[in-house]
Amino acid sequence: MTYRIQGEGVNPTNGERSGRLSPFSQVTHKGEEMKILVSTEQTQGKRKNDFCFVPEHEPVKFGFECDREAVDGHCGCKRSLVGMYNHKATTTFRVIETPINHDHLSNMIFESLKDSGWVTEKNRVQMGIEAIDQAKEINRIAETFRDGDVLERRGNKIQVRT
Ligand SMILES: [Zn+2]
Repeated sequence: MTYRIQGEGVNPTNGERSGRLSPFSQVTHKGEEMKILVSTEQTQGKRKNDFCFVPEHEPVKFGFECDREAVDGHCGCKRSLVGMYNHKATTTFRVIETPINHDHLSNMIFESLKDSGWVTEKNRVQMGIEAIDQAKEINRIAETFRDGDVLERRGNKIQVRT
């Protein structure tokens, strides 16, 4: 699954940010730092159907979704991400720079899938690939925004909370 990025993204080829955030447009790459997404309470309540059951700063990943759920449906799975450790959901999450690398992030996701009972002897390899793909996708999204940006998810769109 590839998520669409809405709003003031950073152009990955030249690092330029479009639109009104230009004073802060330079994306700094400090070698081993990479961006990931973590849970935050910031901006909770801006939408009436917000929820955050994940502790602040816990890394989040994409969860499994119901087929017929609407973005603002009762379940909430199409507008939230899931805490890697507590396996609960949040509608608000933040971009942070961290010293972890892709392998580490992939492992965290794999362990999280394992913890929540998705990994079996038969699908182990497939779930490993899923974890690597998700790590790439999370990082791709996070790198498009600034360190500290609070984001939300609307189905397959990810955008800055305003
Ligand atoms: Zn659902």
